[in-house]
Amino acid sequence: MSRKIINVESNSGTYEVIIGSGIFDEEIGRMAQKSKFDSLFLVIDENVHTLHGDRIITALKKHTPELHLIRVPQGESSKSISFWEKTVGFLLNNGVRRNTPVFVAGGGVTGDLGGFAAATALRGVPLYHIPTTLLAMVDSSIGGKTGINHEMGKNLIGAFYQPERVITDVEFLKTLPSAEWINGLSEILKYAAIRDKTIFSDAEIFFDEVPAAIDNLKLTDLISKCVSIKADIVQQDEFEGGVRAFLNFGHTFAHALERACDYEKLSHGEAVFLGMLAAVKLSNLTGSGLSENHLQKFSSLYHYRVSKEELSYEELIHNMASDKKKTDRFIRFVLLNEWQHPVLKTVKDKALVREALTVVLNEL
Ligand code: ADP
Ligand code: ZN
Repeated sequence: MSRKIINVESNSGTYEVIIGSGIFDEEIGRMAQKSKFDSLFLVIDENVHTLHGDRIITALKKHTPELHLIRVPQGESSKSISFWEKTVGFLLNNGVRRNTPVFVAGGGVTGDLGGFAAATALRGVPLYHIPTTLLAMVDSSIGGKTGINHEMGKNLIGAFYQPERVITDVEFLKTLPSAEWINGLSEILKYAAIRDKTIFSDAEIFFDEVPAAIDNLKLTDLISKCVSIKADIVQQDEFEGGVRAFLNFGHTFAHALERACDYEKLSHGEAVFLGMLAAVKLSNLTGSGLSENHLQKFSSLYHYRVSKEELSYEELIHNMASDKKKTDRFIRFVLLNEWQHPVLKTVKDKALVREALTVVLNEL
């Protein structure tokens, strides 16, 4: 069985991301040989529980006499203070100790929530990520961001908390709905744009097949490339003071779009794809001469549920200017000097931002 191991260095030590097809049971076995688990917790997305629960639970139960399971309802509303409280309460009520492992299986929602519960219970218990969406595999399971939402905005409560290990079994993706594949594709294309052009050609597999039919080895390779890039960036800048910002390519526009759609009619991935198109345009408007637009051809894979009449330039620009995590008065963008050469630019001229947004509205 082929598997790739990528080491991620962090302040709190180095952790392994293990990627492969059908590796889950074996990896759990390998881990349990080193350290026996008296008890463990499994925080699992409800759909993943239905589809893969038997396999995950059977593998874990082989190595512990006591497994405590909490299911996380699908959807962003689970990233709430009340569900976080429920999850931490569940850990405490069931005797979690400083060394009791917490396994978190699901997409970004479960990972962020379960990760934050693991970070905060007893000031931190060992966390193991089992990402089951493409987005979680290439993005949210790496880098230690955990957190929940607040009525003032998304991800406003949280902590940087690194996992002990990330076990990425691409077999879990076989049941993923196609919209969720496309959601992850945007982050993959982001890595292509900011770092590695070969990923653009690798990502063409999404044209050839329905995603669930994509060859597992190709998927393993593609995901590994993305994880290596993310690992390289986050280990240079664990707490987002510098280069980590490049991972936000397309995201300033994307967050404004998602907010304008109340986080309903546009998925994060759709917003990021549109945001990257706008960022390419803004790069050119501010002096870069990007040749061919390598992103454009992927446009046919996206099927938006929002129309341009539902969005306004004013609202989008307002959303960007009032982003809660902004540190200065002007809007800062990650743009491209050249393909694979990202740069942070403050753009003061709102007319240019508006012009870049025309690209987005014309896509819808
Ligand atoms: P993301 O990883 O994009 O942040 P979520 O955590 O919200 O996304 O998961 C997206 C959806 O996919 C949810 O409805 C979740 O229940 C479902 N899901 C997660 N993993 C799988 C899987 N392997 N197969 C099928 N559905 C899944
Ligand atoms: Zn993103």
